[in-house]
Amino acid sequence: TASTLKDIISHAKEYGFVFPSSEIYDGLQAVYDYGQNGVELKNNLKTLWWKAMTMLNDNVVGIDAAIFMHPLTWKASGHVDSFNDPMIDNKDSKKRYRADQLLEAKAEQYEAEGTPEKGKALLEAMAAAMTADDMSGLRQIILDEGIKCPISNTANWTEVRQFNLMFSTQVGAVSEDASLIYLRPETAQGIFVNFLNVQKSGRMKVPFGIAQIGKAFRNEIVARNFIFRMREFEQMEMQFFVRPGTEMEWYNKWKETRLKFHQAIGLPAENLKYHDHEKLAHYANAAVDIEYKFPFGFKEMEGIHSRTAFDLTAHQELSRKKQQYFDAELDENGKPYGNYIPYVVETSVGADRLFLAILCNAYTDEVVGEGENAKQRTYLKFHPAVAPIKAAVLPLVKKDGLAEKAQDIYHALKRSFNVTYDDGGAIGKRYTRQDLIGTPYCIAVDYQTMEDETVTIRHRDSMEQERVAIADLRDKIGFAVSM
Ligand code: ATP
Repeated sequence: TASTLKDIISHAKEYGFVFPSSEIYDGLQAVYDYGQNGVELKNNLKTLWWKAMTMLNDNVVGIDAAIFMHPLTWKASGHVDSFNDPMIDNKDSKKRYRADQLLEAKAEQYEAEGTPEKGKALLEAMAAAMTADDMSGLRQIILDEGIKCPISNTANWTEVRQFNLMFSTQVGAVSEDASLIYLRPETAQGIFVNFLNVQKSGRMKVPFGIAQIGKAFRNEIVARNFIFRMREFEQMEMQFFVRPGTEMEWYNKWKETRLKFHQAIGLPAENLKYHDHEKLAHYANAAVDIEYKFPFGFKEMEGIHSRTAFDLTAHQELSRKKQQYFDAELDENGKPYGNYIPYVVETSVGADRLFLAILCNAYTDEVVGEGENAKQRTYLKFHPAVAPIKAAVLPLVKKDGLAEKAQDIYHALKRSFNVTYDDGGAIGKRYTRQDLIGTPYCIAVDYQTMEDETVTIRHRDSMEQERVAIADLRDKIGFAVSM
């Protein structure tokens, strides 16, 4: 059976993956906390991404920029003027919606009703209306389509207003003197403003990349689908600086590389697809999303964008600091390429959306056995490299020295990877506990262990057991959990 998002959300809470923020006060909308198992899973994803980017690629280094930046940064990037979502309120229910999302839902409905051409025409009209200076055209389409508020069932709409998604606050103690600053809505700008710092201090030669993992904040109007759309989230972004004219080559390379990454950490190829942007942002000359098939449909998980020289040029103009690179390599006429502002190809993935994809894919609820022996079994089939806990050491019984033996194994292994020890209750129950948090290997210490220094490894997905020498455990499990 298809697992619903609801089941996954309650599983995530019950087993220490994701909790609603400040839950004792009834939570804070679209903000979540990661629990003891969630943080391990998320850290694994971030480490794998970091290694894939900086270690496995030539010429990609990392930085860690601050969340607060000079306010002009966001003027240059375009976020102050145009990082807006159009919102509309229903006058009866007082409910607020994103105008574009109301129309997208309608287009999906047309598609489901077998009239996709109507849906397509609607989306085109919407895209045109959204480029206009005032949003009255967008409202008119909502009225013409007779779209009703699902709560009040009326079409009594306000005007459409542009709503900037950036959170702002003040620096300094006195609010009158303080200047307005923003919580960054993306990590990318921290990379752009440090382009020359890294290039010069690292003696980097184009093409090279800068990678970063960090928090970003957006005041999303309608936050939904669990950790898919949050107001505080984490991005893993990489800006790759290239010689103008070579950007498509790199765009295609990163497009391929990033898809392979998602497959390598366990997301099945059939649940991943590219979605080319029909309408490009004014600064981009190519853009694609990698979409994952979430329980609520194929949705964006990562974006790969060819951003030309837009960002560095804008920063050069506003800061009046040259953002040029001198390329000493010789062109076909034997002359150095010389000074230019590099083009940028970026890859941008949400750590939380990747987490959600990995969790949805892992969540397995199946019936094992037949007839009277049929039993429901729930487990998380994580790739061993992302699993929060790699192995559990379980003595069959506590007596006769088995617990001590198991403790010895546990202490020896915990230096190499995240391993847990559990001697409480029947062994079957303990296997189940590990299944529910996705531990790929259970190491059982039994009476035979005391005689021949072997243990059983019980595999999570197949539930099969094999006999292994204690001396081989570290290499065997260590190999499986590394990538
Ligand atoms: P969407 O269209 O879903 O709002 P976007 O196109 O605005 O996303 P980008 O600005 O390209 O997203 O951000 C890059 C990545 O950051 C996204 O692919 C996504 O994984 C992640 N991301 C963006 N907004 C959020 C959010 N509110 N919550 C969680 N992750 C987010």
